Amino acid sequence: MNEGTIAAISTPQGLGGIAIVRLSGPEAITIADRVFVSATGKKLQETPTHRVLYGHVKNGEETVDEVLLVLMRGPKTFTREDVVEFNCHGGPVVTKAVLKTLIANGARLAEPGEFTKRAFLNGRIDLTQAEGIIDLINAKTDRARKLAQTASDGELSQEFFGIRDRLLSISAELLAVVDFPEEEIEETGGMEQVLAEVHQQLTDLCEGYEQGRLIRDGAKVALIGCPNVGKSSVLKCLTRTERAIVTEIAGTTRDVLTEDLNVDGIPIQLMDTAGIRESEDRIESLGVERSRQALSEADLVLLVLDRSRSLTEEDQKLLALAQARPHIVIANKTDLPSAWQAEKYQAFSFCAKTGEGRAELLNQLSEKLSGLHRENAVLLSNVRHFEQVTRALASVEQAQTTLQSGMEADLAVIDINAAIEALGEITGETVSEAVTDRIFSQFCLGK
Ligand code: GDP
Repeated sequence: MNEGTIAAISTPQGLGGIAIVRLSGPEAITIADRVFVSATGKKLQETPTHRVLYGHVKNGEETVDEVLLVLMRGPKTFTREDVVEFNCHGGPVVTKAVLKTLIANGARLAEPGEFTKRAFLNGRIDLTQAEGIIDLINAKTDRARKLAQTASDGELSQEFFGIRDRLLSISAELLAVVDFPEEEIEETGGMEQVLAEVHQQLTDLCEGYEQGRLIRDGAKVALIGCPNVGKSSVLKCLTRTERAIVTEIAGTTRDVLTEDLNVDGIPIQLMDTAGIRESEDRIESLGVERSRQALSEADLVLLVLDRSRSLTEEDQKLLALAQARPHIVIANKTDLPSAWQAEKYQAFSFCAKTGEGRAELLNQLSEKLSGLHRENAVLLSNVRHFEQVTRALASVEQAQTTLQSGMEADLAVIDINAAIEALGEITGETVSEAVTDRIFSQFCLGK
């Protein structure tokens, strides 16, 4: 990896008007010249950069496709290398034929994420920006897209760089104290003040993580309740689709049916435990045990109760269970005569049959999930960033303790440097190759 000239189909597999085959590396222009015949007969080597040319990709005498070629010489390209993009006809067979021709003429098939990895290795973007690009591609809602953009355009990195710079200056000041102890030692009060501010910045970032994570990854909402209370109907009503079964999460001991929903920009995965009935286990243990499991994975629990019949012992157990997590109790079947008062359980009156209460329920969902939302704040959403910020925070706290107790300055320097290193892992200055490899392998081919 990291060597040679790479090629890949950069648009999704499938049919489309056009598709793009991308070529990047030191030989990009030479290879393109071998296969591309421009309408004017002009070679790419003689063509100025950032031009679009019309012509044909040829495999010897055979025409592979009619294309528009974009010529971009480094360093003003995504990878900072020479890049040539072929806008071909958008069919999988055509694009594969163009790709094969490029490979036969000296290019190598790119690994997933290799274009972006080169952009990182060549210093065009930092690691946080690269991760922002993955998130941008994977964004499920508009809010997730905006959040990803703060990372991909470098705003999030600037936050880390800003904190790192403050820590670097403290580290330098402390080192001066260590190196020249005979000189007048300045008050450490100034440093302690800056450290306190850095501590606050890191704490704010950590606190925003839960919200960022919800926007990026979505919230898991578990629908629990006894058989026949109307869970599947509630699910259908909320997602307004007849298909209750969309995905089955494999690899778990039970099958949970999930359905995706977008509530105010938060992608929600509704997990229905209705599959319970299909199981061979006894209903009683299932209702409670399975719900307990679904509950432990959920960010929010929707407990459905049937208002048209008296609450059973199992309903009561589920009510008690739900208290352990953020939850909403739904008193379903309000079109039927009621057997109990919804207010008693702070339950939300709902009718899955007619959809009455749907808008209010979605509002409540949004409110519960957005509880932590802070407008305009830079939000952490990536668990890797969160872990490193947490590490940096712990080191800063350690340094604060050391300074406050009047211990040796070099001890505090060690902690501050550890915090700097943790932040460097986020943006990529001090990150190991194994970590970068793992990050870029999450990309799709051609990115
Ligand atoms: P689940 O076992 O909890 O998933 O329950 P279902 O969604 O399969 O519903 C059980 C029964 O209750 C079905 O016959 C539904 O048509 C009925 N049901 C669900 N919601 C309502 C409602 O709001 N009003 C009425 N009258 N019946 C409902």
